[in-house]
Amino acid sequence: MEQYDFIVVGGGIVGAAVAHKLAQAYPEAKVAVLEKEGGLAQHQTGRNSGVIHSGLYYKPGSLKARTCLDGYGQMLRFAQEHGVAHEVCGKVVAAVGSEEETRLETLRLRGMENGLEGLRYLDERELREREPHLNATKALLVPQTGIIHYADATEALLRSSRAIVRLQTTATGFTQEGVATRKGLVRGKNIIVCAGLQSDRLARRDGVEADLQIVPFRGDYYELSPPAQAKVKHLIYPVPDPNFPFLGVHFTRMVHGGVECGPNAVFSFAREGYTKTAFSGADTAAALGYGGTWKLFAQHWRYGLGEYERAFSKTKFLNALQRLLPSLERADLLPGRAGIRAQALRRDGSLEDDFVLRQGERAFHVLNAPSPAATASLAIADEILRQAGYVG
Ligand SMILES: Cc1cc2nc3c(=O)[nH]c(=O)nc-3n(C[C@H](O)[C@H](O)[C@H](O)COP(=O)(O)OP(=O)(O)OC[C@H]3O[C@@H](n4cnc5c(N)ncnc54)[C@H](O)[C@@H]3O)c2cc1C
Repeated sequence: MEQYDFIVVGGGIVGAAVAHKLAQAYPEAKVAVLEKEGGLAQHQTGRNSGVIHSGLYYKPGSLKARTCLDGYGQMLRFAQEHGVAHEVCGKVVAAVGSEEETRLETLRLRGMENGLEGLRYLDERELREREPHLNATKALLVPQTGIIHYADATEALLRSSRAIVRLQTTATGFTQEGVATRKGLVRGKNIIVCAGLQSDRLARRDGVEADLQIVPFRGDYYELSPPAQAKVKHLIYPVPDPNFPFLGVHFTRMVHGGVECGPNAVFSFAREGYTKTAFSGADTAAALGYGGTWKLFAQHWRYGLGEYERAFSKTKFLNALQRLLPSLERADLLPGRAGIRAQALRRDGSLEDDFVLRQGERAFHVLNAPSPAATASLAIADEILRQAGYVG
């Protein structure tokens, strides 16, 4: 049976970034990546908005803030060097009304504290030139924002790492010899788990005690019809609700063409079920048997109800989008895909907003890696190698 120097569980972008960094730090090492699906990046990484975030939103000093801007630079360099299609197209954050304008100014100051360059308000003339269809009383230009297809980036990272990728290999636990999988033991002493929506389950099996559980939230997207696509020149975002890390429905140009709008955020009855009716008994029991979920529902039922309405009513979804682009019509919205966020929830119902990394008994675990973890993946990988003691 083969013996590996390092085993990475999870073939999303975080696992791929870890494999890439291991190859740089230990060029001679044998690295295996275990992925339970038949292909790479089938979950969050392959179903996200494809934005290379600049670090505007994150609490200064948090792991998110520290890794986002660093990861942004590393992702762009990697994409340039390895021919992964990307574009730094910039984004416009649009405030509507005085309350949002105040929050936008807080965001601008936060962005400057986080080290972003070129942030500035657009005057009316420039706003009309840049986004002629946008409804905004104040608009902030964030030039350091880009787009990429993270599944392409994942494949390129793994190619460059020369790691051995073992698909359809589900990790079920950890032993002194390595990782137990449904296909038998994979031998190796140094194990890093980057399992996204399943991270809490694998961490618990490795003795990690955390006041956190992953609760899945589905986000639905629509695509804009070709004539409506011309109405979006950059990425367009609303000012986010400070109570939620989700960013509100936004317009995103995609690097391979087209414009998506969304996602909303609704509780999902399956961690990996992407239709509106998807259901998993085990996932639902885990989520509804967890006190934190009910506390979240109790605290934010009004917000949750609004999101549900948008999930089932195209008209409500359109209304949310028309707040930013009033000339959009129902026929402009074509059915799109869905993604599911792994949202770590504390027992008191509060959302864990920052990235969480933990050492278990036999493996090192990425317990929470929500947005912008795809952007930040290469910097998160640096942090993992450092915290796990693999680099000085
Ligand atoms: C709707 C949505 C929009 C987003 N938009 C953005 C964005 O624009 N920009 C950004 O930076 N971030 C964005 N994010 C966040 C980003 O996608 C995630 O933070 C990132 O993809 C996390 O990567 P990951 O590798 O940790 O998880 P995943 O991509 O979920 O990968 C985990 C992998 O582990 C595998 N796995 C799980 N359990 C096992 C097991 N037992 N054995 C073997 N394999 C296993 C899974 O099959 C999966 O392939 C978005 C997320 C969502 C859901």
